[in-house]
Amino acid sequence: MSTVDLPLNEQVAVVTGGSRGIGRAIALILGNMGLKVVVNYARSSDAAEEVVKIITENGGEAIALQGDVSQAEAVDTLIKTSLEKFGRIDVLVNNAGITRDTLLMRMKSEDWQGVIDLNLTGVFLCTKAVTKPMLKQKRGRIINISSVVGQMGNPGQANYSAAKAGVIGLTKAVAKEVASRGVTVNAVAPGFIATDMTEKVKAEDILQFIPLGRLGTAEEVAGMVRFLATDPAGAYITGQVFNVDGGMVMA
Ligand code: NAD
Repeated sequence: MSTVDLPLNEQVAVVTGGSRGIGRAIALILGNMGLKVVVNYARSSDAAEEVVKIITENGGEAIALQGDVSQAEAVDTLIKTSLEKFGRIDVLVNNAGITRDTLLMRMKSEDWQGVIDLNLTGVFLCTKAVTKPMLKQKRGRIINISSVVGQMGNPGQANYSAAKAGVIGLTKAVAKEVASRGVTVNAVAPGFIATDMTEKVKAEDILQFIPLGRLGTAEEVAGMVRFLATDPAGAYITGQVFNVDGGMVMA
């Protein structure tokens, strides 16, 4: 059976870092489509519970689960608890991410490692943990949030660029490994999106690089994730990178 055949309200999505920004918008859009949503968060339990409240008030089902997804044990608990609660996982959105920006010459090992641990190893850990149940179900949609910076580089972001480029390689390799069992793996590469992460970015410095002339919204990125997770076309798309970037990167 393909994912298209399973009603959306029987499907379960896990969104890492789902309490704010892009992850919040993804959790809400999938919740509004009828999927049961696990809203993972690291620290902000109030914000995660708020997302759960909005989904349930709209007639959906959701739970908030704490867990630092850079840690293997926390990831195992997150996925195990999600399976215990909802019985299956159809969609994994690897969204959690951080920046520790500074020029390479000043970059400390912990700035490098912290970003790699969450933005790349976290994606590996969560993907590995859901792969078993998805292969067994013979269905699944894994969507990794990369970045244009992983495609084009950015001064001050050697750690972040390396992690986000790594996510693209990981996406393609795993896509090839699991395709025969109906599991798709794709990446979304946002440009500059207005969230807490880009709070300090000065619009006047970057608008010249964005053909559409403005920052994107979290909802615009969430729309691409919704497409990959729930549109029938998502069943036949794998190993791809989708830019939601106002035209910053044109292949
Ligand atoms: P944000 O800082 O608003 O949100 C990041 C989320 O990750 C938060 O919910 C945070 O609680 C969570 N998080 C942080 N550490 C965590 C951990 N150890 N375990 C679990 N969750 C953790 O940022 P955002 O802009 O919403 O970014 C979301 C994703 O999109 C990130 O992967 C980011 O790299 C990517 N991205 C953002 C932009 C942008 O312009 N905002 C552009 C390209 C890619």
